[in-house]
Parts: sequence; C-alpha cells; structure tokens
Amino acid sequence: MKKMKAGLVLPDHKYGSLSSTKIQNLSSPRFIKFPLRQHFDLVLNPLVQEGDFVLIGTKIAAHEDLNSVPLHSSTSGRVSKITLDFILIEADEADKFEPSIRIPAELPTEPKQFIELIRQAGIVDLGGSGFPTHLRLMEAQRKEIHTLIINGCESEPFLTSNHVLMLNHPVEILKGTELLRMITGAERAIIVTERNKTEVIEILNTKNYNLKLNAIETALLPVRFPQGSERALAASTLGRELKRSETALDARVLVEDVATAFAVYEAIYLNKPLYERVVTIAGPCVIEPKNVWARIGTRANDLFRSAKGFLREPSRVLFGGPMMGEAISDLERPVTKEVQALLALSPDLIPNGQEEACTKCAKCVDVCPESLIPETLMKAVKKGNAALALEYDINSCTECGLCSYVCPSNIPLVQLIQSGKTKTKSHPFQPAYAVFPQSQS
Ligand code: SF4
Ligand code: SF4
Repeated sequence: MKKMKAGLVLPDHKYGSLSSTKIQNLSSPRFIKFPLRQHFDLVLNPLVQEGDFVLIGTKIAAHEDLNSVPLHSSTSGRVSKITLDFILIEADEADKFEPSIRIPAELPTEPKQFIELIRQAGIVDLGGSGFPTHLRLMEAQRKEIHTLIINGCESEPFLTSNHVLMLNHPVEILKGTELLRMITGAERAIIVTERNKTEVIEILNTKNYNLKLNAIETALLPVRFPQGSERALAASTLGRELKRSETALDARVLVEDVATAFAVYEAIYLNKPLYERVVTIAGPCVIEPKNVWARIGTRANDLFRSAKGFLREPSRVLFGGPMMGEAISDLERPVTKEVQALLALSPDLIPNGQEEACTKCAKCVDVCPESLIPETLMKAVKKGNAALALEYDINSCTECGLCSYVCPSNIPLVQLIQSGKTKTKSHPFQPAYAVFPQSQS
C-alpha cells in the first residue's frame, strides 16, 4: 500500500490504557440516559412510557424515516423519565436480556435483508462519524465498490479501543468483514492497521488461516496521523491520490471501522443490537486508564468512576481523541454510539499560547493531508468571504486538527475552518460531496 501524503507522527500516549489488553465488563450504573437526537437532526420517538420495564436490547425509540436507526436499552430496569430530548432508565441490577438475542436459526440470503438487519440493530459508523451504516452500505452497492477497507489504524493519541478489540475478537472481526464484503459485492477486503500493532496482524492472519476467508487481506501502514482517514486509506490502497472532489466511495472503495465490522458480526450472528461498545478511558488525570465495554447511555462521570476517578482535576475532558474529539463540560453527558474514548487531559496537553499574527511559515500547508491551504481558509473565514473559502475547498477539510497543532502563532485554524464550513452551508456553490461524512479515526 502507498504511504499517505503529509500528516505527522504524534506522541502516542497509548501505554496507560494498554497496561492490560483486557476489555473490562462494567456493572450497570444506576441511571442510564439515552439522547433521542440522531444524525440529520432526526429526533427519535419513544416506544416506551414512563414506568415501563425494559430489558437489555429492548427497542426503546425509533423513527419512521428510513435514514434513522433505532435505539436499544443497554440495561434492564424501569423507564423513569421521558422528555423531548432523552429517555432515562433506572437499572434494576438484574441485567436481563431480550430473549431475541440468540444465535438465529438461519441467516438471511439476500444483501438487502442483511442491510435491514443492520439497520434494525441500530448500527452506525463507530469510527467517530456516527453515520448510519445501512446508508453507507446502500451507497457502496450503488457505486459498485471493488474494495472494502476495514480501518484498524487508530492513529489518534491515547486511543486503544480498536487495538484491544482486534486482539480480543479477531474471529468476529474477520467474519464481520466477510459479511460486509459480501453485502457490498466488493471483490476484496483489506483489514489495515499501523506498524505499532504488528501482533494484531499476526493474530488476524493466524485466525484466517483456519477460517479461509480468502478475499480478506491484511496490511500494515506507517504510524502517522491521520492514517485512518477515509480518503488517506483509499489513496493508500489505490496507489494514487484522490481528486479533490472525489470521495472514497466515488473511487469505489468503502472504508468501515473495525468496531463497526464487529457490531455487524454481532447483529447478524447473534441477533444482538448495538447497545455497548469498547471505550478507552485514559489521559494523565485518570488513575487507572483502561478499556471497557461501555453501555451506550452511561454518563462520563460513571465511566471515570470505573477507572478509579481522577488523580488530579482535569483541565479538559474529551469525548474522542485529542485531535478530533469533542470537549465536554458536563460530566453527566452520556456516551453515545460513536464515542471511542473518554479522556481527562492535564494542562500541559492543552494549547494555551496567545494567538499571534500569521507569519506565513507554511507549516499548516505542509502537514495538511488534504493538500489544502489552511492559512488562506482561515483568512477567508475571518473576512466572511464564503466564495473564497469554497474556492479553496473548505469542505474538503476533514477537521483533523493538524494545522492548529503545528501553527507557531497559536491560531485556532481548525475551529475557524469548522465555523466557516457551517457558514458556507447556505452558499449556492455547495459541492455535492460535502454531504456524505467521512470516517474519522
Ligand atoms: S484540519 Fe483541515 S485544513 Fe487543517 S490540516 Fe486537517 S484537513 Fe487540513
Ligand atoms: S502555520 Fe500558522 S503562522 Fe504558519 S502559515 Fe499557517 S497559519 Fe500562518
């Protein structure tokens, strides 16, 4: 595979949560909170009422729009509150499962039946975008993709959830990959990861020697951020750069996250909806960094408690990695399906320099994996010049954060570009590829 253009080698900080490669099971917290707002700003309709009893896997909210996916309870207990924004469930500590979660008598035969099962299981892109997986699969079929890439790169510092998932569940990931390949009609599938995870590739190859899923290959890529971006992976596989307006799907390549492949395996082979995922709890302020099976809807506070709390007060708490994650101020916020990590960062990891004037050093240009000119985009946004921002292709920015990271003048380039992207949404010259989100990790 071809090496990615630009990018940067970042300090990895992964040792803390890798001190054990086990994924810890957690007992249910007393309260679990399920936000009802989804992609496309769809608000799910509750299917339960206050006072109802639910089981693990009970469908608790859905929407008639086929772009949506339903939401399932991650605990057994009583529905204690329903508002316009969320459903709150009080756990009963019994941890009883829906009887439908079991090995099905037979598997479907048609790709469209698999896609409907994946939708009904509530599966979204677990690589960070949260985009419904069934829509990506239907688009991949329409584009007649030839290659499926399963992304196990995890190039964000601190994040190890996919690393331990691959170590602990290689067979499930291989089988989930084969399902996705078969559903999309891809001729080949490649599970990729970075060179700091060579043991993962050895395990996958050993397991596949017995499984004999011959259309699945594995590949190692250099350790470099953002190695796992969809366009970078497609370019590495194809051996050519993608054109500016070309998405991975346009190039007939579908990129899915390893956690998504695992969830697809569970949905099809175990009839298990997506109600939990592996989350890395880490950062210098966490006493016992680790990876856990986090029930969707668990509050950040409860997850930190499972890691023995804080060594010192964090300066910033993030859902996701330090480059592309979201800073959260409310530790009552629950984990949703796309959250890969919960980080508590110390002051030394937070940029705090005073913003200065641009020196035209071009460092931001050198690192940009999308070959953009962040400095020009920043100036266009500051001047409110939407036409210029679009001319310089603001929507090709994947918000990887590298330009901000290297800027010696402490200019918050990525934040400015993010706000510019929002402002240019109403501009008449909006390119079509801006509406299909890319996998991030
Ligand atoms: S945030 Fe956007 S502009 Fe900045 S380096 Fe990443 S892709 Fe390029
Ligand atoms: S890195 Fe910062 S100072 Fe250098 S050109 Fe880019 S915006 Fe200007």
